[in-house]
Amino acid sequence: MLSVAQAETIILNLVHPFDPIRDSEVLNLLDVVGRILAEPVTSELDFPHWDNSAMDGYAVRFEDVQFCSSEQPVTLEIVEEIPAGYQPQCQMQAGQAARILTGSVMPAGADTVVIQEETRREGKIVTILAAPQKLGAFVRRQGAFYQSGAPLLPAGLKLQAPEIAVLAAAQCAQVRVYRQPRVAILSTGDELVGIDQSLQPGQIVDSNQYALAALVAQTGAIPIRMGIVPDEPEALKQAMAKAIATADVVLSSGGVSVGDYDYVETLLENLGGEIHIRAIAVKPGKPLTVATFGNQESGVRSQESGARDGEVRGQGEPAMISAPNSRSKIYFGLPGNPVSALVTFWRFVQPALRKLSGLPQSDWGPTFLTAKSRAELRSDGKRESYLWGRLYLTNGQYEFVPASGGHSSGNLINLAGTNGLAVLPMGQTQIAAGETVQVMPVR
Ligand code: AMP
Ligand code: MG
Repeated sequence: MLSVAQAETIILNLVHPFDPIRDSEVLNLLDVVGRILAEPVTSELDFPHWDNSAMDGYAVRFEDVQFCSSEQPVTLEIVEEIPAGYQPQCQMQAGQAARILTGSVMPAGADTVVIQEETRREGKIVTILAAPQKLGAFVRRQGAFYQSGAPLLPAGLKLQAPEIAVLAAAQCAQVRVYRQPRVAILSTGDELVGIDQSLQPGQIVDSNQYALAALVAQTGAIPIRMGIVPDEPEALKQAMAKAIATADVVLSSGGVSVGDYDYVETLLENLGGEIHIRAIAVKPGKPLTVATFGNQESGVRSQESGARDGEVRGQGEPAMISAPNSRSKIYFGLPGNPVSALVTFWRFVQPALRKLSGLPQSDWGPTFLTAKSRAELRSDGKRESYLWGRLYLTNGQYEFVPASGGHSSGNLINLAGTNGLAVLPMGQTQIAAGETVQVMPVR
């Protein structure tokens, strides 16, 4: 059986990141929150755009005031007032100063700002009571933060408020970002009913559909909920084919174990998929199945590409982009147990979606941190085990508290509140309370 690390490598190698041209769209700046930049951005502007004052005070010539002190003050004539947004008109001559406010443009001839607190003003005369520290004190030089033409933001950057502020300041009203991966979600099982259906004996609610849709959306992809399919090979085959044709990535849950009604693996082969992973030495999640579909060979017809390069889409309008024909599709057959489905998503699917989305390798995850376990952790040692619970940061140290109650993969209830998975490597059966453990944050 494959180790977790081997499976991770195989999965990441199957993912071909989005193409910066074909798999991108141009959107208005307000519509790109959480999206990933598809091309580097440069600006024609310098930042600051011009020399300006960092403080309220007086713009002076350093040579006029460099030797002054409270005992030997220097008086200068105020020839101009420079409020914000005003373009100075005067050239500072020897013995002259301009009143200047924070952010205002430095007047020609002046090279230094004396802060207000070190001056005394009477009408058109200002008395400088202390020499500035140096030539250029309290002046922000044009281009000190960024020089026109240099790289401003790199491709692959996730756009959040700080990056959007930078793009706005650079007057980038429209931005080319990667499209969001389309992820079809399919639940398999005769026992499953929808959230609003009455529950008969023997039935359970299809919670995976909701959990996976939430995880997909949180990863920045578009969940396409394809509902429940019974354990009937023909119906399941059709549903799987439709999901593969619709999306970049398919997540089905259930039907991948060795039970009598577990058809997913066989149907993946029937549909022309290439199976790369049939089982992983991980707990929970052992039956995770991974297949790819290159469109030419498979019996699956892909939707025509609706990609419209260069077009600007407004917020709320549906994405007109469907998975292009040429891309191969990845199918994850997740185990049906609700905990297994979540853990395998976090550990294997999420990094794959991040790679597909155009993020740089440093952002694919998962990350692990060292925490002290507040309780004993146990595993049978036969597989790499992931125990769910809560991470706390106490006095600068991470602590992990496993969820109380059973760590059965069927126990969905004690998963609520989980923000970390403690990892017990294969072969390790116990970590005593107070010892350190590697924890994978999941929020
Ligand atoms: P399976 O992998 O199909 O054998 O399913 C394993 C367990 O997970 C069974 O107890 C199923 O009832 C349960 N299960 C399967 N699919 C779902 C689902 N979509 N939502 C909640 N539980 C499920
Ligand atoms: Mg089943």
